[in-house]
Amino acid sequence: MPVSHPSSIRRTLAIISHPDAGKTTLTEKFLLYGGAIDLAGSVTSRRDRRATTSDWMELEKQRGISISSTVLQFTYGGFHVNLLDTPGHEDFSEDTYRVLTAVDAVIMVVDAGKGVEARTRKLFEICRLRGIPIFTFINKLDRPTRSPIDLVDEIENVLGIASHPMNWPLGDGPRFRGIIQRADGQLNLFEKTKAGAYRAPVSVMGLTDPAVREHVDGDLVDKAIEEMELLDIAGAPFDQERVLKGELTPVFFGSAANNFGIQLLLDGFLSMAPEPSGRKSGETLIEPEDKRFSGFVFKIQANMNPKHRDRMAFIRIVSGKFERDMQVWHGSAAKQIRLSNSQKLFAQEREIVDEAFAGDVVGLVGNQPFEIGDTLTTDSSIKFDEIPVFPPECFATIRGRTTATAKRFRAGMDQLVREGVTQLFESAAGTTMILGAVGPLQFEVLKYRLETEYGAEVVLEFSPWTVIRWLMAEGEPVGGVNAPTDDLPGGCALAKDSAGHWVVLAEAEWALRSFKRYHENWELAERLVK
Ligand code: GDP
Repeated sequence: MPVSHPSSIRRTLAIISHPDAGKTTLTEKFLLYGGAIDLAGSVTSRRDRRATTSDWMELEKQRGISISSTVLQFTYGGFHVNLLDTPGHEDFSEDTYRVLTAVDAVIMVVDAGKGVEARTRKLFEICRLRGIPIFTFINKLDRPTRSPIDLVDEIENVLGIASHPMNWPLGDGPRFRGIIQRADGQLNLFEKTKAGAYRAPVSVMGLTDPAVREHVDGDLVDKAIEEMELLDIAGAPFDQERVLKGELTPVFFGSAANNFGIQLLLDGFLSMAPEPSGRKSGETLIEPEDKRFSGFVFKIQANMNPKHRDRMAFIRIVSGKFERDMQVWHGSAAKQIRLSNSQKLFAQEREIVDEAFAGDVVGLVGNQPFEIGDTLTTDSSIKFDEIPVFPPECFATIRGRTTATAKRFRAGMDQLVREGVTQLFESAAGTTMILGAVGPLQFEVLKYRLETEYGAEVVLEFSPWTVIRWLMAEGEPVGGVNAPTDDLPGGCALAKDSAGHWVVLAEAEWALRSFKRYHENWELAERLVK
């Protein structure tokens, strides 16, 4: 019998949602079904974390948001599942985008009472750009919901993706009775479990079985049958090819808090989700089965545990086999390094990883000068495409408040910018540090972490800029020590990015338009693609 490649049983995903739709609860239930823990409550991640762990999670506590992303691994049905957590706040998006570069599929959680919400839409667009398969879980059926037909319509119309409900709800809110598998017409009867802590008992019967009407009001059954007939006629047919291309989303219904529909979602997801996909190095696709080890850094996080003062770089393995202590080529530092401190995170506990395969995510602890997007490989000719940097939309200046903590301020800035907490620019005169971020919360996180982790007091002031463009000449970014012009219209300023490329900062589109009139020969780029 042919032995399948270890990567073929890996599945790597993230769950995306608008805050409060139920991402954390669903994550906990997955772990419960994955047999990784006995009681879902024991990793009630955020709530527990708030009470017990590191200081910088204080900000999370104060703001009620999840700032850090964690990687969870569990096994289920013969699969090794890597579940990458994404931060849940509307503002805090760059980090999430990077996490999405490391997964092969996503599950989008939608609150059945609210439908598709703002942040879901934004995250969804990013997934679409990457063409990753998207699975939908419509949650909170135990609460009064919008009509399921409307919800499915909304997914199609608002998100512009075809959908195929794999199952269908029977009633909602107090009259929620279960979900029906469309493929075989089996009804899974809903039974409320005590606080949703254990696996929900499920009794299954055929929808046409007369016994069903002993449990469920006839009008609900009739309505569900009618709706499913409508889906059969008017809905998109199931098509695995289109699922893999991210053109059709399989839809599942359930209630995460009640553990209901979770196993159907997990089984369905694992039967349809793709194996780890390769990544491009220039024009070449590096496949998971490639013997050469390769991976890329998609997230860096320091001081996860203030007692240890550590720094963890998260690597998504693209090909080959990872072994602890292996030597790899670190391209951006142009040297060979030994990967000695490998860990995988399991909730708050860490386990040492000895080997891992394509699709897996490992955390490397230590002081290697990794940066987001770096390639690590046993073959120095492999270099993965850059992780896109998103153009900032808000800006602020920052400086240390006292000279006494200047050194700590610099060390903290260096680390946190490397982590990608914000982007850093320098004023044209080289005298002021300018921060750029997609959302202003990133500034708050930076300030908070500088103060709590580095003991550096800072002064942070918001700047009026909202638009950034890189100055380009003949397709190349404009560099050089001296500002390329001092001829600037009102509402504009020049600055340099961390690589020394000149950018124009504008207060608004109108100011940018004036700048373009002043400098017709320059092209302006919204972002640099290296
Ligand atoms: P997140 O912000 O997306 O991670 O959402 P959480 O998982 O923290 O859930 C937000 C709130 O919705 C919490 O109070 C959950 O207990 C609740 N919740 C999650 N799933 C369900 C569900 O199926 N039914 C009901 N009624 N509440 C739920």
